Amino acid sequence: MRDYVSVRRRMIETHLRRRGIKDEAVLRAMQEVPREFFVEPGFEEFAYEDSPLPIQESQTISQPYIVALMLEQAGILSGDTVLEVGTGSGYAAAVISRIADQVFTIERHDSLAKRAEQRFEELGYDNIHVRTGDGTLGWATPGPFNAILVAAAGAEIPVALTDQLDIGGRLILPVGEAGGQRLIKITRSSATTFQEEDLGAVIFVPLVGGETSDNDAGKPVAIDKTLTLPKLIASRAEALPELGDPGFAAAFDRFADKRIILLGEASHGTSEFYRARDAITRRLIERHGFNIVAVEADWPDAASVDRYVRDRPQAASQSREAPFQRFPTWMWRNREFTAFVEWLRGHNAEVSGQAKAGFYGLDIYNLSASIAAVLGFLDKTDPEAAAVARERYGCLTPWQNDPATYGRAVVTAKYEGCEAEVVAQCRDLLSRGLGLRKGDGDDFLDAAQSARLIASAERYYRVMYYGGPAAWNLRDDHMFDTLSALLEAKGPNCKAVVWAHNSHIGDARHTAMSYGRDEINLGQRCRERFDADVALIGFGTHGGRVAAASDWDSDMEIKQVRPGLPNSYEQLFHEAGIERHLLDFGRDPVLRERLAAPLLERFIGVIYRPETERGSHYSEASISKQFDAYVWFDETNPVSALGLDNAHLDPDTFPFGQ
Ligand code: SAM
Repeated sequence: MRDYVSVRRRMIETHLRRRGIKDEAVLRAMQEVPREFFVEPGFEEFAYEDSPLPIQESQTISQPYIVALMLEQAGILSGDTVLEVGTGSGYAAAVISRIADQVFTIERHDSLAKRAEQRFEELGYDNIHVRTGDGTLGWATPGPFNAILVAAAGAEIPVALTDQLDIGGRLILPVGEAGGQRLIKITRSSATTFQEEDLGAVIFVPLVGGETSDNDAGKPVAIDKTLTLPKLIASRAEALPELGDPGFAAAFDRFADKRIILLGEASHGTSEFYRARDAITRRLIERHGFNIVAVEADWPDAASVDRYVRDRPQAASQSREAPFQRFPTWMWRNREFTAFVEWLRGHNAEVSGQAKAGFYGLDIYNLSASIAAVLGFLDKTDPEAAAVARERYGCLTPWQNDPATYGRAVVTAKYEGCEAEVVAQCRDLLSRGLGLRKGDGDDFLDAAQSARLIASAERYYRVMYYGGPAAWNLRDDHMFDTLSALLEAKGPNCKAVVWAHNSHIGDARHTAMSYGRDEINLGQRCRERFDADVALIGFGTHGGRVAAASDWDSDMEIKQVRPGLPNSYEQLFHEAGIERHLLDFGRDPVLRERLAAPLLERFIGVIYRPETERGSHYSEASISKQFDAYVWFDETNPVSALGLDNAHLDPDTFPFGQ
């Protein structure tokens, strides 16, 4: 066995000290880290020569002298937090970890990142954090960094990296095309000023990333590096008038040529989000021909509202009970939503045919009402088929009011399950569609969607038992399938507005949902299918109050929203100092580039737990990639919830019995 300690010592003396490396901390760290451990099998004997060596994915482990030079120039001290872009074998990160307090390292090849992580574990180096991703965007949440080292060469200096440098911090990186690369040192001397120094010629593998990407017109984006992000936002945001002002909704006319406009919300209990979506949607319906409003609500409940707003008789199964009686009732039983429903009914009474806008639910819950809707439709149109459906759905009857227990029964108690029955029923119903659709279109659509919901929900409750991304993905795929079915049913000229939480609408591929959890969502599916015919618009707030519960099925409370955390978009937009504003990432490539670096983003659902906010409500996202535009209300108020009193149908007050 080779005496690697001596070979390493020789490398330090001949290749490093003699070539001018003086930093004792760097030399000590390189003496400690077993470089032979980081090269590919068979290359161990070359590990201590002063040259780069090949590793997997056609990449290289950097030459020892260059690693030492970059570390010395970075001036890393104990106690520092350091970012490395281009983990490769993990060798440089390992050396840094012997000097700094914490090392964060990003690698675009997952296989390399995983292998490096394994090496760190085997060596017991527990202060290195590895992530797969595009390092040109940096890693905002552990930043700002005392030093950033980049181990691959790009054409420009990624602005996210200078943004994430602490004052006094040093960024060492190669810049330039192959054959003309220079090693550059950037020192941040204040919030807005940077010094640049040329350390000489180098050769690195290319930095492959989005930060230096072109804009839509194919021209390189001129990134303004001199402004801090809040100042940049303040200079580029479009201030919006108050919600009651017609100018508020008019600001969204620019999206009216899209086929689908998805409007998000950063919580399920904020009045301003409902009122803003109401104002924008009214305008899109009145002036721009939108005729589908599809929301994050259950199909059967929304179907009752649809019958009300389009003045169609309530179905027998639905007239017994008013909609939205399931937790979280305040999400739809609130004054803001009722005002929209009343307006829509009034609008529809004045127009005819396709100009009447329908109201639909995309979500997957409310199994019992869906079963009732299918049976009600078949009782009316084909009693024999209704008898077959009753028998098939009988399999689900014991669980329809508590379907979560169904999943457990199937998985743990070896209960056979109802998949075959509900799928067969759905197929039967859809296949009779062609004959029925002409004369009975809306009722058929209602029954067909209810049958689809039952089939999706059956799967949903089974996979939910196992946890993981499958249940979330199934739910969002169901939402997308429902939206697609609506667009198809209403014909090529229909246009849809969608209301759902930011977590469903903001493209998941640019959030921790995707890079941490393999989750997809409705916004992503819409972009994948409809491309530029879609606008994804997020909504956010800094503070104020919100209607939310502390636990599932517990009472609604009015809770104080905490101010946005450091390193969050909420804090940035608040610091920009404009009370209500619109950021249009599609129109503003500079804003898009500068807000592409991942930061924390807050997601408040029907549950809000301020005490554990960082862990339970924040996660990372690249906001300008996640959305096409973003609407900001600095301070917000809770929705005005309506009780469940008089919930049973009263023809004068349907659907909410106020
Ligand atoms: N520090 C590494 C070591 O000690 O082995 C050397 C890495 S090698 C010279 C450069 C690495 O940068 C490659 O593994 C390459 O895949 C990675 N890379 C290139 N562009 C990247 C990007 N945008 N984000 C993250 N990693 C990138």
